Amino acid sequence: MLEKLMGEDSLSTFKERFLPSPFILLDRDGTLIKHIHYLHDPKRVELLPGVITGLQYLFNLGFNFGVITNQSLIGRGIATNEEVNSVNAEVSRLLLHEGISLAFTFVCPHAPSDGCSCRKPAPALGLKAIHDFGIDLSRSFMLGDQPSDIAFGHAIACKAVLLSDKLNSTSNADYNCKTLLDAAHWIETELSRS
Ligand SMILES: [Zn+2]
Repeated sequence: MLEKLMGEDSLSTFKERFLPSPFILLDRDGTLIKHIHYLHDPKRVELLPGVITGLQYLFNLGFNFGVITNQSLIGRGIATNEEVNSVNAEVSRLLLHEGISLAFTFVCPHAPSDGCSCRKPAPALGLKAIHDFGIDLSRSFMLGDQPSDIAFGHAIACKAVLLSDKLNSTSNADYNCKTLLDAAHWIETELSRS
C-alpha cells in the first residue's frame, strides 16, 4: 500500500527516516579505541584491532552505529568539553575514512559523585538515542569492554557483548569475545536465529 502511494524510492527514504532501525551501540575507550587514562589529545587516538573490519562487516548486515561514552574527566575538571569533542571528532574521522559513519556520539560528562542519570550503566543516553534515532531494540546490540556497558545494554533491553582480552566467566554479557570482528560474527549468527 505504501509502495503504491509513495513510489519505491520515496518509500525507502521514508523507511530510513522513520521506521525503527537496527543499531550497534558502542562504547568508546577500550572498545573502539585504545584505552588511555583521561584521554584528551586527539593525536593519541588509536583504533583497536578488528574495529574497522568488524564495523564494516556489521554495516554490510544493515546496522547503523552510535557511540555512548562516559567521560568523567570533564566533571573532574581534567579536560574540557572541547577537548573531549576533539577526541570524538578524531574517532569519527578515522572511521569515516574507512566508510563507517557514526549517527551520533553521546557523552556523559559527569563525575560518578554527581549522581547523574546519564552515566552508564544508567540508561538515559540510551533512551535518548532510542527516541532520537528510532532504534529497533529487538535487532540492536550494545558492545563494550566494561560490566557497566553490559548493564547499560540490558537496562535498555538490548543484547550486550563484552569485548575483553580475558574471557570473563562471571560476566552477565550475552557473549564474551576479544575483538569487534568476533562480536560481528556472533551477531550475524544471533540474527539468523531470531
Ligand atoms: Zn551524566
